[in-house]
Amino acid sequence: MIRQPIVCVLGHIDHGKTTLLDAIRGSAMVQKEPGRITQHIGATEIPLDTIYQVCGPLLSEKTLAVPGLLFIDTPGHRAFVTLRARGGALADLAILIVDVNEGFMPQTLESLRILKQYKTPFIIAANKIDLLPGWQPHHGAPIASTLPNQSPSTKAALDRGVYQLVESAYDHGFHADRYEQITDFTETVAIVPISAKTSEGIPELLMVLLGLAQRYLAPRLQREKEWEGEGTVLEVKEVEGLGPTIDIILYNGSLRRGDQIVVGGVERPIITKVRALLRPKPLVDIRLGGELAPIERVSAAAGVRIAAPGLSDVVAGSPIRVVSGDVAAVVEQVQTEAQPVVELAEKGLVIKADSVGSLEALAYELRSRDIPIRMAGVGDVSKREVVDASVGEPPAILAFCVQVLPDAAAELSERGEVGLTQGDVMYQMLEDYEEWASQRKAEQERAMRRAIVYPGSVKILPGCVFRVSKPAIIGVRVLAGHIRPGCKLLREDGRVLGRVKSVQSEGKGLKEAIAGAEVAIAIENVTVGRQVHVEDVLYVDISEGDARRLREVKLNPDEQEVLQRVCEIKRQKKASWGM
Ligand code: GDP
Repeated sequence: MIRQPIVCVLGHIDHGKTTLLDAIRGSAMVQKEPGRITQHIGATEIPLDTIYQVCGPLLSEKTLAVPGLLFIDTPGHRAFVTLRARGGALADLAILIVDVNEGFMPQTLESLRILKQYKTPFIIAANKIDLLPGWQPHHGAPIASTLPNQSPSTKAALDRGVYQLVESAYDHGFHADRYEQITDFTETVAIVPISAKTSEGIPELLMVLLGLAQRYLAPRLQREKEWEGEGTVLEVKEVEGLGPTIDIILYNGSLRRGDQIVVGGVERPIITKVRALLRPKPLVDIRLGGELAPIERVSAAAGVRIAAPGLSDVVAGSPIRVVSGDVAAVVEQVQTEAQPVVELAEKGLVIKADSVGSLEALAYELRSRDIPIRMAGVGDVSKREVVDASVGEPPAILAFCVQVLPDAAAELSERGEVGLTQGDVMYQMLEDYEEWASQRKAEQERAMRRAIVYPGSVKILPGCVFRVSKPAIIGVRVLAGHIRPGCKLLREDGRVLGRVKSVQSEGKGLKEAIAGAEVAIAIENVTVGRQVHVEDVLYVDISEGDARRLREVKLNPDEQEVLQRVCEIKRQKKASWGM
């Protein structure tokens, strides 16, 4: 027995995800027998015979084993990563929808990266073909019959649009092609032109999805254990008269009223018993909502509501398991599955996200950019994490789709050094973070430059000894690098002279003088004619630590030469100096 593949629709905002789901339901409904689509909680099932009707002659020759398709009603990559099954994605298949007139947009790319991460087979729906110049709509028609009726220039516009998608997909590591050109669907991503508005192309879309599922997902869709239900929580809510309920998608096995279940909770797994199982009544127009009906038993794949005591602490995306034997073993399984799998390093960021799946997706993105993570968790940013982040390197928190709690915000403003990057569009957030990181690096470099004593050399000018001692005031030319008040001067023979008290030009104190400048300097503890003489070349004295640090700093050739000379002078006494 093979169950229905679970399908999720992903794509950039406004490219038509919701409209496509409506069109798929609508196509199934206009087949004059409205009962043919089965509404689930959080999902819509299109049974095989309905698909046969929608596809008409396209599918007439084919025999299929898949009993239909189960579409998750909440589209988007957020839902895709939140809904998990055994540590992977719940969806077996995905439709990546792209407005053919616009091409790939940021969330298209985000979806694409997520599909790559989860290795989920998908097809690309090239949507809004009805907006191509001159398009003549044929409501609900297959592409195969509507395309021949279009003008050559309209067909050419479609070709160009599709070709753009092929190129964009290629740029992101995928081979894609028009569905009718493809022989091996595991190697090439199929592009199906559609209009979610006129429902053109929906037959081919369903046909290609079925083909993909039929051929490449059979092992995954095999119903393994008839009795041990496995599912994923979509939503947790209080319902009047029922108490706490969870909406779930059961993706394996079956579930009965009265079954003992284990569900992933905020702190630990919850063990409880199914008090009621509910699903929408058949024949109810889903667009009008409708009554739920109690049922005794449900088999995968299906969306149902469960009422049971103790469910209020469940989080969306958590696993749910029916217990058939050892409760402890199931609890352990649920606990393991509810844990995010994130590789942690000794140094790195603190990351927070709204679900296990989004946390893993964020970790995946960071890993692909070689950004290490030190701590990872689900939920809002708390004070403790700000404190933890402040001792990290870099001291930074990435918060994806979560809030910063008030005491954490207070802690953040107190510890100004912790960088917080928040957002709900992952690529944007990562860009913001990288911007912060590079600014911080530049600032650190500037600070290091300020702290380091720079190489510099001066020559004492003749006729410019303004005072011989206490302090000596002499005119010098800066030959290379910088000279700043506070530095000490070094003689060619390795002797370190007194400190430079001030650097002046035309009676004004300077913070530094650079190569080429002629300035007056005041030096403590030297007497001109004794320790220093006119025409002497003196160097800024550099500590061994600074000499090492200077290797990381970009110096100009003159500065490098001075540094080299200082090293040589120092190494006359200590051969390994500055190494
Ligand atoms: P979502 O944000 O991806 O769920 O996009 P929606 O399904 O909400 O669609 C965004 C807008 O595009 C709506 O105004 C839709 O009516 C429109 N739209 C979606 N699909 C099509 C299409 O195939 N053709 C045309 N002309 N408009 C479409």
